[in-house]
Amino acid sequence: MSRKTKSKAEAKILYVEDNPQNMRLVRKMLKREVYTLLEAVDGLTGVKMAEKEMPDLILMDINLPDIDGIEATRRIKEIAALADVPIVALTSNATYGDKDRILAGGLDGYMPKPVNMTELIKLIEDHLPEWVEKE
Ligand code: MN
Repeated sequence: MSRKTKSKAEAKILYVEDNPQNMRLVRKMLKREVYTLLEAVDGLTGVKMAEKEMPDLILMDINLPDIDGIEATRRIKEIAALADVPIVALTSNATYGDKDRILAGGLDGYMPKPVNMTELIKLIEDHLPEWVEKE
């Protein structure tokens, strides 16, 4: 049996972000790349949505209106079925959490804002290698 590459549209990416402009930007980028985007506007919604939807990758803002992205990550990682789902921080806030603090908080990666499309797509492909379409 030949190995079938999964369609990118089957890859579910959850983005937890309270800033509508950032959400809109990432939505636009992922739409071009055909990934399926799930959107949560605060940390608790993000945890609930992750549990319900079982995303393949989670992009996590750090400064959120309720629990922060590090606490949301901790709660998601406690759910056994989600323990291995990569969670990558997307944040511009250097005063609250720098890269070391975010990675020490259990996140699997870090990307500074403003989000650059090429870097975001590369990050997604690095974390979801089975979805990268091969010629
Ligand atoms: Mn925010």
